[in-house]
Amino acid sequence: MSKPTLLIIEDEKNIGNYMETIVASNGYKAVRATGGLSGLSMCTSHRPDLVLLDLGLPDIDGMEVLKRIREFSSVPVIVISARTQEKEKVEALDAGADDYVTKPFGSEELLARIRTALRHSAQAVVRSGNPLVYSCDGLTIDFDKRLVMREGKSVHLTQIEYRLVSLLARNAGKVLTYDFILKEIWGPYADTDNQILRVNMANIRRKLEENPAEPHYIFTEIGVGYRMREL
Ligand code: CA
Repeated sequence: MSKPTLLIIEDEKNIGNYMETIVASNGYKAVRATGGLSGLSMCTSHRPDLVLLDLGLPDIDGMEVLKRIREFSSVPVIVISARTQEKEKVEALDAGADDYVTKPFGSEELLARIRTALRHSAQAVVRSGNPLVYSCDGLTIDFDKRLVMREGKSVHLTQIEYRLVSLLARNAGKVLTYDFILKEIWGPYADTDNQILRVNMANIRRKLEENPAEPHYIFTEIGVGYRMREL
């Protein structure tokens, strides 16, 4: 099997070298661009399996690069951001990024994000429907039967709670933004805000988590959204 190709779009040489070293020593092939426009052209010419995209680029903004990539490709994109503002992460996710990593980051974190994103894109290609079961550390969700079990006991969820959990579980490992979740569950025109989501999530955690204050299955990405534990 050929190595997956990762396109690194990053203008800072040191960080680019750092990322290249990490991915190249872990079984990936790395190609690099130092600007947004050259990144876009390499995205078309090299057809990478995944893109690591810095948001602060010298020529065009990383967000613009992301939007243009999405016009022709569904390649997984992980945004690399020095910016700590949640707003940019949310914007990037809503514009079609698959995940984000905030600088400074460690090699393990970067590799874990890459594996998750590649796995999701492989599943999206292979899978015609959805996975039938989510099963992780004592929590089982049977999508076919709409059944949730914890430690062998059935958990009663309201319809909204079930849809929330099932949406997160089907995207396990991936962060879903508040806005995305609200639109998926309550519809694009519903008059809702994050409060209704927080209330539902608190109820879900009370039912699913051993200690709702330190969740084991559903994590809060502060200011961004929620992420369910990966299988
Ligand atoms: Ca930069």
